Amino acid sequence: MIKEEIDIRVNGKTKIMGVLGNPIEHSISPQLHNTISKLIGKNIIYVPFMCSSENLETAIKGLKALNCYGFNVTIPYKEKIINYLDECSDEAMLIGAVNTVVNRNGRLIGYNTDGDGYAASFEDATKTSFLGKDILVFGAGGASRATTLKAATKGAKTITIVNRTEKKSDEIAKLINNNTSCKAFSLNYSDTKLNTLLRKSDIIVNTTPIGMYPNVDESINKDIVFSDNQIVYDLIYNPTETLLLKRASEQGAKILNGLGMLIYQAVLAYEIITGVKISEELFSTIRTLFLDINKHI
Ligand code: NAP
Repeated sequence: MIKEEIDIRVNGKTKIMGVLGNPIEHSISPQLHNTISKLIGKNIIYVPFMCSSENLETAIKGLKALNCYGFNVTIPYKEKIINYLDECSDEAMLIGAVNTVVNRNGRLIGYNTDGDGYAASFEDATKTSFLGKDILVFGAGGASRATTLKAATKGAKTITIVNRTEKKSDEIAKLINNNTSCKAFSLNYSDTKLNTLLRKSDIIVNTTPIGMYPNVDESINKDIVFSDNQIVYDLIYNPTETLLLKRASEQGAKILNGLGMLIYQAVLAYEIITGVKISEELFSTIRTLFLDINKHI
């Protein structure tokens, strides 16, 4: 019998996964992935890989040399990492960002599960789809590229992207117009059309970090008037109810935070890296476990 004091969680056969980024201390990916491995009995350990920008290439070569099973990529490397991978999925190339890398026989292949995580969490929570919807999105960063492109490929009628740096929202609108049948527009916060568009939109999405912990008293636009036939989706998951969501909910709109997307994108990444299919039952267990994660991080 093994003595209780001996730590047997990691052994010579343990596979290594992780999340690469900077900063990385606040990521909950280690808890999520290690919980999945524990629940299905896989001998995998998932660790944070903090990496400075100047060491990125060396770090990736190291992960390859050490036969890392696969890893996730987060801020600020989702775009830059593409230069160091052997191959990328068509979707990741179109988005221009990778959040999941799998090591297949020494070849590093990049994927992006943010868009699928977003769509699956939206469809699951609202029991509806993006088909025929008018969507207004705040922000034009990496998360916006992945989520707007996914909504467009899933049949959204129009997508208007509102961003501080208009060049970036212009680029996303162009990407959508060139690759899907959805009509996309780019708008500045000061555009007089914004209020009318906000009233007309079926779905309003915040992909900016405005309102994210610790700046919980900030909100994207304090004058928005919501209605009960609108869905407001804030990609932020900490706090679970941003000021934007609180106001939308008070005015009768249906609200969603970023926790569902976070869990879905992680489960999809886990499936891609390990080849294991996560059952609906296991998914439901994971979701219940992580529903109040902000109380524990
Ligand atoms: P990013 O690439 O840095 O993009 C951030 C976007 O927000 C940019 O368009 C930026 O505008 C805009 N922005 C930032 N601060 C602003 C301010 N003070 N006023 C106006 N606009 C501002 O970041 P990202 O990777 O897309 O992530 C964005 C958010 O989504 C974060 O809160 C992140 O936690 C969340 N997220 C959640 C999930 C999930 O699974 N739930 C997944 C990915 C991301 P400029 O273009 O003008 O700089």
